[in-house]
Amino acid sequence: MNFIDLAAQQRRISEKLNANIAGVLAHGQYINGPEVRDLEGTLAAYVGVKHAVGCASGTDALLMALMALEIGPGDAVFTTPFTFVAPAEVISLLGATPVFVDTDPATFNIDPAKLTLAIHAVKANDRSLHPLPLTPHASPLRPRAVIPVDLFGLPADYDAICAVAARSGLAVIEDAAQSFGGEYKGRKACSFGAITCTSFFPAKPLGCYGDGGMCFTDDDRLAEVLRSIRVHGQGSDKYENIRIGINGRLDTLQAAILLAKFAIFPEEIDLRQEVARRYNELLAGSVTTPEIPEGCKSAWAQYSILVRDSAERSDLMAKLKEAGIPTAIYYPKPLHRQTAFSGLGYKEGDFPVSEDCARRIFSLPMYPYLAAGDQRRIAALFQ
Ligand SMILES: *Cc1c(COP(=O)(O)O)cnc(C)c1O
Repeated sequence: MNFIDLAAQQRRISEKLNANIAGVLAHGQYINGPEVRDLEGTLAAYVGVKHAVGCASGTDALLMALMALEIGPGDAVFTTPFTFVAPAEVISLLGATPVFVDTDPATFNIDPAKLTLAIHAVKANDRSLHPLPLTPHASPLRPRAVIPVDLFGLPADYDAICAVAARSGLAVIEDAAQSFGGEYKGRKACSFGAITCTSFFPAKPLGCYGDGGMCFTDDDRLAEVLRSIRVHGQGSDKYENIRIGINGRLDTLQAAILLAKFAIFPEEIDLRQEVARRYNELLAGSVTTPEIPEGCKSAWAQYSILVRDSAERSDLMAKLKEAGIPTAIYYPKPLHRQTAFSGLGYKEGDFPVSEDCARRIFSLPMYPYLAAGDQRRIAALFQ
């Protein structure tokens, strides 16, 4: 059994995949070919947003979003410590400061009440209100933006987050790397905040065969700035540079592959709901299964469960491995405990919910074509 099985999907769409790839080889526009614009239009319509800007990875999408909002030294950007490194990494890369905010234990997403506290603490420069990072700057940080992450495919609580952000003048950047295809109160993931970022890394719900990503925005000006940043800060002419940018383009070949995959993507999202529902039923009572708030739909990038403690987790993972069932821990070490962020001066105990989840969580195989029989075999090992 695989943790994520891409072969079954490939068999279903191989004809269209081959035709799309052959199409790119025939026209030869490997950079910014017509498939890139086609994909941008298709995915913008799917999520219900005006503009989509394809880029080289989910990490570049986040970097470009922060650059478009002119985030830099002295700026505070609020985000979660219980996720993949990319959001906190790009904040630091631009010289801004990540201010971590603990998560909600039921959804694993950023806790809006704690976000309010963290903003107050930064504004008052008072670490007795909320744990704050050390900074090399003499003056207090300027609260500028928040990057909520839709962890494991479940959109964060955008009603609450956007209300808090609006009160404090913060821009919201949705990290939808794991949630493309998810929904929140009738709206698709990738449609919240000033700019949304997603990833087409192969293991994400909509993945390509390499690296890829996309920014979404309803704002005409931000879309234009993102398109410029994507190509070295290009102006109206190729050799006119009007701002500092990056080489952040999405390959035409990857766009062609994504177009083939997207044809069956909505159906795959439905299949993922069934797989998750079966797990929930089979595992009820044995472990803490994921909780999806009313009105939300997860894209089920991961199916993650909580067990009693790290000893039980080690035992269960060993037992599953013995039976040929792969598992993974997302994420074993919260970002505030990573060496890369040690300069921020955070300590164990600063974000107790994230730390507790990191000790007790692990993920089971999850993909649209996971067979019910395999799920029953997995669940039997929890008895
Ligand atoms: C995968 C991921 C990213 C980065 O995407 P890449 O395409 O791998 O650069 C960013 N944020 C989260 C939450 C992710 O899971």
